[in-house]
Amino acid sequence: MVSRYTGTVAKASAKFCMILLAGGFSLAMPNGVLAQAAQPDGGGVRSGVLPDRWQVSGPNCPVDPKFQIHSYNEDLYILRESGCSNYEKPFLYLLFGKEKVLMLDTGAGKTDVAVVVKGVVDQWLKRNNRESIPLVVAHTHAHGDHIAGDAQLKLLPGATVVGLKPGDVQAFFGFKNWPEEIVQYDLGSRVLDVIPIPGHEASSIAIYDRQTGILFSGDTLYPGRLYVADGDAFARSIQRLVDFTNGKIVAHILGNHIEETWTPYLDYKIGTVYQPDEHELQLGRGNLLELNDALTRMNGKIVRMAMRDFTIWPH
Ligand SMILES: [Zn+2]
Ligand SMILES: [Zn+2]
Repeated sequence: MVSRYTGTVAKASAKFCMILLAGGFSLAMPNGVLAQAAQPDGGGVRSGVLPDRWQVSGPNCPVDPKFQIHSYNEDLYILRESGCSNYEKPFLYLLFGKEKVLMLDTGAGKTDVAVVVKGVVDQWLKRNNRESIPLVVAHTHAHGDHIAGDAQLKLLPGATVVGLKPGDVQAFFGFKNWPEEIVQYDLGSRVLDVIPIPGHEASSIAIYDRQTGILFSGDTLYPGRLYVADGDAFARSIQRLVDFTNGKIVAHILGNHIEETWTPYLDYKIGTVYQPDEHELQLGRGNLLELNDALTRMNGKIVRMAMRDFTIWPH
């Protein structure tokens, strides 16, 4: 198979090797397998790798539970909070642009999240021969399990923490017509689309990263219980996401929790710390269409409904 990309092996580990592509982007792949960007252009997105399984918390918790830090690629980091810190086990995201780094959510309960984030940022700076980069901390929404680290992150030098009220979010990103309007936020050669998705919570946003084709969906769509506080707003938000993604690349839809098991129609009870057979984090646009279809059929009256990979749950 001949690729128009001339790849060179840049880094090899026991499990993965990285191929640097002409555009500077890399593809990671199982050792020894020659992969290429799907023709003609790999979808135009920068690739990355998600773990086969996330580290599970327990069954015996260590004295000092840590975050799992996963590098999707060199400019996107995923932090998973240990269930030993808080059973919600939320995911947090760090997206690096040329001018800013965006942190999405700050976790649940009492953790040392600022120390962990500073460590990741310092490593990135070193690798990029940079002295500093402004840190912008935003939230997928304002629930307590997504904002608990705000106070300590505010103390990091160069950090801006976006407020929690819908008005704060709208003012920061420059929305004039919430929730219909979709605005752009540029991290420096990395444009994000910020999409209002109230319904789970009034200030909920989704973020589409044009560079990776990842849609960050917060608690609005993830493998678990999708708590719906405002049914009308939620249904309109899901339709907004369907319309927005129509014709766009969606590499993954990444939410902030895993509550499903790998077995369809089987989830972990609220409060579960140890989830040895949990569902993968990533969903795809098919799941979004499936959710939209179910909500459309409910026609304004949201009822609890178990689906293969998530449950709709009026709250
Ligand atoms: Zn929530
Ligand atoms: Zn949550």
